[in-house]
Amino acid sequence: MKNKDLLVAALQNGSVIDHIPTDKLFTIARLLELEKFVEPVTIGNNLESSKMGKKGLIKVSGKFFTDQELSRLAVVCPDMQLTVIRDYEVVEKREITLPAKLINVVKCANPVCITNNEPMKTYFEVDKLKGMVQCHYCGKTQKIGKINLM
Ligand SMILES: [Zn+2]
Repeated sequence: MKNKDLLVAALQNGSVIDHIPTDKLFTIARLLELEKFVEPVTIGNNLESSKMGKKGLIKVSGKFFTDQELSRLAVVCPDMQLTVIRDYEVVEKREITLPAKLINVVKCANPVCITNNEPMKTYFEVDKLKGMVQCHYCGKTQKIGKINLM
């Protein structure tokens, strides 16, 4: 059994986030607020990957991420993989992709934007081809991977 199989196989119920670039692992761990979890959390980095060379992986017991939580991750790092496990069975395996719209995920970089001056949700449209997000209110664009989150 390979190292990766061991890490995934031990989970009864929970989620695995895989294919994390090694330089993004701790950013992702912080975004997920893993320090607040009480059930077992496994963090691996610099694991061998046939696809990426080296990669990071996070495994959390008893946690199923919401779409909102996953879109926060996708803004920082597109193309990670999510595996959901229930009763030791993989019930879902997919790429964590950016949705077309991000509601209250991204903070607008324009200081005079209304979203930075009124108590309201931010709203960004995503252009995956250009790798940009654009504020619905002021039109300011930001590059995916270099974005401030709410
Ligand atoms: Zn704006």
